[in-house]
Amino acid sequence: MTSRNWAVVTLAVLLVALAVAVALLTPWQRPPAPRADQLAALRDLPAAEVARGREFAASLRPARYGSLLLALVVALILGLTPLGAAVVTWAARPLGGGWLARVLVGGLVLLLLADLLTLPFAAWRHRALVRYGLSTQDWSGWAADLAKGYAVGAVIAAIALIGFYAVTRWSPAWWWAWGAAGAATLVVLLSFVLPVLIEPVFNKFTPMPAGAQRTELLALAERDGVPVRDVLVADASRRTRAVNAYVSGFGPTRRVVVYDTLLREATPAEVASVVAHELGHAKDRDVFVGTLLGALGSAAAVVALFLLSGWGPLLRAAGVPSVADPRSLGMLLAIAALAGVVATPVQALLSRLVEARADAHALALTNDPAAYEAMQRRLASVNLADPDPPWPEHRWFGSHPSTVERIAHARAYARGER
Ligand SMILES: [Zn+2]
Repeated sequence: MTSRNWAVVTLAVLLVALAVAVALLTPWQRPPAPRADQLAALRDLPAAEVARGREFAASLRPARYGSLLLALVVALILGLTPLGAAVVTWAARPLGGGWLARVLVGGLVLLLLADLLTLPFAAWRHRALVRYGLSTQDWSGWAADLAKGYAVGAVIAAIALIGFYAVTRWSPAWWWAWGAAGAATLVVLLSFVLPVLIEPVFNKFTPMPAGAQRTELLALAERDGVPVRDVLVADASRRTRAVNAYVSGFGPTRRVVVYDTLLREATPAEVASVVAHELGHAKDRDVFVGTLLGALGSAAAVVALFLLSGWGPLLRAAGVPSVADPRSLGMLLAIAALAGVVATPVQALLSRLVEARADAHALALTNDPAAYEAMQRRLASVNLADPDPPWPEHRWFGSHPSTVERIAHARAYARGER
């Protein structure tokens, strides 16, 4: 059998495995959140806050869609015309134009170019966050975070670029097998190792001082069968007023991280309900399942890329002889951008289902739907959320159930629909 036939078989196996994993591991059952309850919840929210949340969402919309559209158009222009190949050649020339210069300098410049073009939209977004009082960062803090993000991204991209083009050069017929294994490994590394390395770049963490709240949160985790080593407080107030919490690490390194903003804004019962939601993620191994699906998906994507990138018309459009040429990066980014458009609503749907399960877990663990509803109201109010976003937008991008869905869920629980 030829390499191409093996690739077809492997892709079929990976797609079946992905479909089976999604079918079995996704909590498909709809949470009890009748629309009538949602509308009642919406009416109960202060009208001025709802209006402000909608106004804020509207002010972000041009930046959001403008940035998405521009990124897609730029990727398609760079990838489906010889322009991307020309950028790589031009950027590598001052360094001799050799293979390494093309892969590393050419590749990073091409990636940076795409990022820089959408920078005005990121600045627009920051300005809106400051205007609405959500961001506490000045422009220099914002720029520092941006630079840190670029630096982290550049390191990951450099590893991926060198790995990818070394393998395509070394094994033109079988790179897809190594590439698929490499992509899956990278997903696992990014998901398990990186948070531990990256979190401290952006925030400082201090153990929560001993006291009733710390004891209560540790006891909650213990009762849930998800013991945590520590409760840490992140200095999120340096950049935002938004409130949040999460559980990170595994087994003996597992810890609960609470934003200092959450402790400042919310009552202890509300904090407990947020932490209970996060414990639900840990208990149901949502990070593990997400990583598994991501690893299968990215392996399948590499094999599909191999089959697609041998297609003559595509190579001719990009002006490169083969995918092994480092100047093919633009073409690869164009394919990835198109795949991203399709993957976004699928990922959002799976995420909303998983989040709804964590909500159900929190309600069952704390048995305190009133605190849960209060917390959802506070989250919406502080984070300036649109409590009931337009449904096409919610379906396409919404990673969490909307505020009114979550309040309706809590009310259904309180009525005894558990
Ligand atoms: Zn969650």
